[in-house]
Amino acid sequence: MSHVKRLVLIGNGMAGMRTIEHILKLSTEAYEITVFGEEPHPNYNRIMLSSVLAGGVELSDIVINDWDWYTENNIKLYTGDPVTSIDSVGKKVISASGIEVAYDILIMATGSNPFMLPLPGANKEGVIGFRNIKDCQIMMDTSKTYKKAAVIGGGLLGLEAARGLLNLGMDVNVIHIHKYLMDRQLDQSASLMLQHDLEQQGMKFLLEKHTASIVGRRRVQGLTFADGGEIEADLVIMAVGITPNVELAKRTGLKVNRGIVVNDYMETSIPGIYAVGECAEHRGIAYGLVAPLYEQGAVLAKRLAGTVTAGYAGSVTSTKLKVSGVDVFSAGYFNDKPGMRSLRFQDEIDGIYKKIVIQDNRLVGAVLFGDITDGAPLFSLIKSGESIEGREKELLLGFSTGKAGESLASKLGKMADDEIICGCNGVTKGTIAEAIGNGCSSVAEIKMCTKATGSCGGCKPQVEALLQLYAGDTIGEPVKEGICGCTSLGRDEIVESMKAMHLMSVKEVMNVLEWREPEGCSKCRPALNYYLGMLYPAEYKDEKESRFANERYHANIQKDGTYSVIPRIYGGVTSPAELKKIATVAEKYDVPLVKFTGGQRLDLFGVKKEDLPGIWEELDMPSGHGYGKALRTVKTCVGNTFCRFGTQDAIGMGIRLEKAFERINTPAKVKLAVSGCPRNCAEATVKDLGVVAIDGGWELYVGGNAGVKVRASEFLCVVKTEDEVVEWTSAYLQYYRENANWNERTANWIERVGLESIIKALENAEDRQALMGRIEETLSYSKDPWKDIINNDDLRKNFHTLSGVETVNS
Ligand SMILES: Cc1cc2nc3c(=O)[nH]c(=O)nc-3n(C[C@H](O)[C@H](O)[C@H](O)COP(=O)(O)OP(=O)(O)OC[C@H]3O[C@@H](n4cnc5c(N)ncnc54)[C@H](O)[C@@H]3O)c2cc1C
Ligand code: SF4
Repeated sequence: MSHVKRLVLIGNGMAGMRTIEHILKLSTEAYEITVFGEEPHPNYNRIMLSSVLAGGVELSDIVINDWDWYTENNIKLYTGDPVTSIDSVGKKVISASGIEVAYDILIMATGSNPFMLPLPGANKEGVIGFRNIKDCQIMMDTSKTYKKAAVIGGGLLGLEAARGLLNLGMDVNVIHIHKYLMDRQLDQSASLMLQHDLEQQGMKFLLEKHTASIVGRRRVQGLTFADGGEIEADLVIMAVGITPNVELAKRTGLKVNRGIVVNDYMETSIPGIYAVGECAEHRGIAYGLVAPLYEQGAVLAKRLAGTVTAGYAGSVTSTKLKVSGVDVFSAGYFNDKPGMRSLRFQDEIDGIYKKIVIQDNRLVGAVLFGDITDGAPLFSLIKSGESIEGREKELLLGFSTGKAGESLASKLGKMADDEIICGCNGVTKGTIAEAIGNGCSSVAEIKMCTKATGSCGGCKPQVEALLQLYAGDTIGEPVKEGICGCTSLGRDEIVESMKAMHLMSVKEVMNVLEWREPEGCSKCRPALNYYLGMLYPAEYKDEKESRFANERYHANIQKDGTYSVIPRIYGGVTSPAELKKIATVAEKYDVPLVKFTGGQRLDLFGVKKEDLPGIWEELDMPSGHGYGKALRTVKTCVGNTFCRFGTQDAIGMGIRLEKAFERINTPAKVKLAVSGCPRNCAEATVKDLGVVAIDGGWELYVGGNAGVKVRASEFLCVVKTEDEVVEWTSAYLQYYRENANWNERTANWIERVGLESIIKALENAEDRQALMGRIEETLSYSKDPWKDIINNDDLRKNFHTLSGVETVNS
């Protein structure tokens, strides 16, 4: 039996997960990977928290790898569960919840903690750092009730927090210990220009101020200063620096200075344990920006994948301020020291300032304010260390300011191929040009191919300009976005081509429609599989490998790697016999938790993969499809069977609908409900389709959602009979199946296409009948997945455990 090495990552953040992504690219099979994250989220782009706070970007937009990504890559992920101890002799980690995982290779990527000044009163409610989603949420929530914010720290992070709080409608004071803002990145001239611009935006500054205490009762009410002054504040953000998160490393006995000490291959003092990211200290430096951390991750990934690589030699860093309306760039030395000289350009009218710092004819630093388009080429020169003798003036003026009116594309055209465009990810102009040459025709595609724009997003204008430059005919036209980075074709074009050319498999679609990625990706594969199944219900054979793990195993994978089992309970109505059967099975298989779901059924949690077939066999009940993009539940109230207000048989109607449409595949999950009167106890008006009984008939509502974004459904029609309810529901569901994008809930679909267009498609009885005919045909081919599996040894084998190999997520 081949032994796959076990790799455990502690820290589900930017550096650690980038390392894992890199390892997977180099060698998908080399490791069995487990990731522990202290935060309860999948891996997200921490840099973008500033943009979330400033508005315009949702928290959901900053996820780098979503939950499905981990499943698809066979990574076992524990979130909200920090590792609390490492047994470096027995080679295992133990988490706060008691989970023990053995490792062959351990990577520590625990990041940093915000440095909280030990001021009297610092533990009061309303005093926080700015590091994670939770901090961001506290700031957003606080701004709804309170109005006065104080940010301690006038550096990059403090100013980004302050800008966000201003956007949230708060009155913001920034307190800074120095005379100049961003004193670690900017010289005085640039700093004063920055202060002026931010004051114009409404930010207030208290400079050269030492905070003495934080006052208030339980919650913060203000700050006092060493000079006797004071201000009111309902929220205090400490943004005075970060400290590498090394407590666990210290307890483990690793060598720690400021960070965990590592060599050029990110090896710590204990064999088999590596460290990357802000928690690591390399040649005396613990970095606090992503670009160097990604470089470290790349070296470590190659090392672990067995690829020959030079060691990590340290990095020169550059920073940009991500505050709208203010462009600031800084790299290398910004104040000349003995042996260095600097050249400056200042345009007071346009608010532009430039400074380059030179030593021994090499560029060693640059500060730009107001126009930062030359940041990338200057940073490249700093990194390359080449001689700039005779080009000093051109560097100061030539790239942009000296040539007013020259377009960004034209300037980029003159840049050398090896100049860096995306500083965060180290992507050169040449790499982006090559990606465009290979067919990438949108920023999203370039991001997917090269990672450029994938972190702070500050290089997006340059990438767009390169697209203009190299995308030939499409210059000036909006660049078309496909369903994913593998194609520039949209959903409708793909479905039309499938029909016109009678394409019959996912592979064929990708070949004929010239996919850029021959194997597709996790977005397009399941989408194509759905469209083909929708078009050809009789002929198309579902491609299991194009589905997510939940749908492959017909069970919901849980965060600890076990599965949940939800048998169908039509209309939420069960019987003593059925309950006894469920109880017997739950006891026999030692099911740790049995819970009622929001959809009125019973969910058996904590089931091992190998027990799934046995449990389903003994339950002998249809699958509730609690995991799939399919009809989930039809929730009902008791209706006129028992309720004195009920006007119709809600239970009977609900059961009829559930029996009619169970097993139907839909673009995204679909939930239905039936209420026996307008009191609406079954909450029918927040469902994909809700039926509400009235005197002498039924009202139908569509496009409701009670999830992340609550949406009340819209009135579709009123009908008299149960048969008509079924007819309209059939037509509506089939029209949704045929027209929505894969993974698009009805609420989003209706917002996109408008209710009017749906009413128009359904109002004619003949059209409804035709749609009903098509959904009935599809339903006639559907089978209960578990009946198939328990009667088929080959399918059953997929659930067997291989000795010595962890089975979850496989
Ligand atoms: C608001 C903001 C804006 C920023 N802007 C920029 C920018 O513009 N440019 C730039 O280059 N950088 C920026 N940064 C810095 C950048 O985000 C960090 O350098 C980067 O995230 C560090 O990556 P990391 O993996 O080392 O740490 P993190 O991303 O912090 O990840 C570490 C993870 O480990 C988890 N963890 C800690 N201990 C344990 C444990 N015992 N068990 C399990 N999990 C654990 C933590 O909860 C965390 O999720 C910004 C940071 C913030 C907060
Ligand atoms: S919706 Fe009406 S019929 Fe149904 S339980 Fe509530 S009050 Fe009774």
